[in-house]
Amino acid sequence: MTRVAVVGGGLAGLVAARRLAEAGVEVELFEARESVGGRVRTDRDGGFAFDRGFQVLFTAYPAVRRELDLEALSLRRFTPGATIARPGRRSVLADPRRAPGALTETLFNRDVRLADKLRVLALQRELAGTDPETLFDAREPASEVDIEAYLAERGFSRRFVERFAAPFYGGVTLDRSLSTSSAVFRYTFRMLSEGDIALPAEGMGAIPAQLADRARAAGATVHTGAEVNRVAPGDGRPTVAADGSERDADAVVVATDPAAAAELTGVTTPDATKGCVTQYFSLPEHVDLATGERLLLNAEGDAPNQVAPLSAVAPEYAPEGKQLLSATFLGDPDEDDATLADRVRGALAAWYPSRRFDRLEHLRTERVEFAQFAQPPGFRESLPAVDAPEGSVYLAGDYTAWSSIQGAMESGRRAAALVRKRHA
Ligand SMILES: Cc1cc2nc3c(=O)[nH]c(=O)nc-3n(C[C@H](O)[C@H](O)[C@H](O)COP(=O)(O)OP(=O)(O)OC[C@H]3O[C@@H](n4cnc5c(N)ncnc54)[C@H](O)[C@@H]3O)c2cc1C
Repeated sequence: MTRVAVVGGGLAGLVAARRLAEAGVEVELFEARESVGGRVRTDRDGGFAFDRGFQVLFTAYPAVRRELDLEALSLRRFTPGATIARPGRRSVLADPRRAPGALTETLFNRDVRLADKLRVLALQRELAGTDPETLFDAREPASEVDIEAYLAERGFSRRFVERFAAPFYGGVTLDRSLSTSSAVFRYTFRMLSEGDIALPAEGMGAIPAQLADRARAAGATVHTGAEVNRVAPGDGRPTVAADGSERDADAVVVATDPAAAAELTGVTTPDATKGCVTQYFSLPEHVDLATGERLLLNAEGDAPNQVAPLSAVAPEYAPEGKQLLSATFLGDPDEDDATLADRVRGALAAWYPSRRFDRLEHLRTERVEFAQFAQPPGFRESLPAVDAPEGSVYLAGDYTAWSSIQGAMESGRRAAALVRKRHA
């Protein structure tokens, strides 16, 4: 029987383990932390669900549809669109095709002009006819532009960019300057036109938990608290060293974060990273923010970039009588937690002049140094190939595709397919 070791129990490693085990391969997965999930984790405390930073599931991602039982995740969905927030006013921008009830609000939204709304519809129509798998290849990497230039090429106004695209896609790419590749924009825009933004009722950590259950059910062994210190290509049979012992296998899939993968295999992986700081707040349930279960985008600044009404969308995120909000700052702000929390309080008070926020309680701050790797135009050119390492060692992980749940899951499937082809 073919034996494969998988290093790393994030989404990529879990998908690879399951796919291989289903194909009859004997799989052992080693995850350094006490729990699986990697960058996608949830900590429950005091009746609240704290994801590791604000993160969401795009239900239209093909890999999400392929790898997950979405029904079992009891998804709670954000209303499509967003609320654009500025001092003294909030306005709704909905997708009129998907939320006809919000058509009037959207048409009369003065933050985004009619011409830009028509450009959004035209882009939706154009991208709807394409195969999502080709969206990344629509342009030669050398001629790829960033999101800001792409929107300008298509005639979108500065006002649209500043009030909507910068906070919204800044939140998706963790870069409000929109310097990320337009390929990422086109792909996510297409996914958002087709599906929803959702949270599993039990938190984002339910996603890797389900993947781990599925991998185990297929026969894989999942070790947690098992850091791999060394991967050696060996002479035909690679080995992994974990827990003070060394094991050999027919193949090893290194599905760690990019920095650990570089260390374990010697292959160059992306080293420019993007981070964020997410703060969590509770508010008594009776303080109605009337968000319509939409994200609140800060149209005038990045402190914070966006506020998410988490428990309004997923009531399971907060205990009875309370609501849970998150506020996300992009990058690595210098200010301490209390100063950032004051900024959130100030932003909410400005957006909602008639509400009182004296019972807004700062619950915790998650500083995530590494959330995504940087994806400037043409970034795919420099990503490592699945079989870049020496010998029968293979790579999986978002850094072999693009930085997202889709990229991570798809990379796990791709690595498993190549290992099966060559070894099973
Ligand atoms: C705050 C935040 C917000 C995000 N928002 C979104 C979003 O809204 N939508 C979206 O699609 N994506 C989002 N992402 C990105 C997405 O979560 C990642 O792209 C994806 O989870 C990466 O999965 P992975 O399996 O490739 O890597 P990782 O999740 O990094 O998993 C790697 C695993 O390898 C383990 N490991 C490392 N070294 C070793 C070793 N030596 N031995 C054993 N194990 C090891 C690590 O502990 C980890 O569990 C977000 C990420 C963050 C952090």
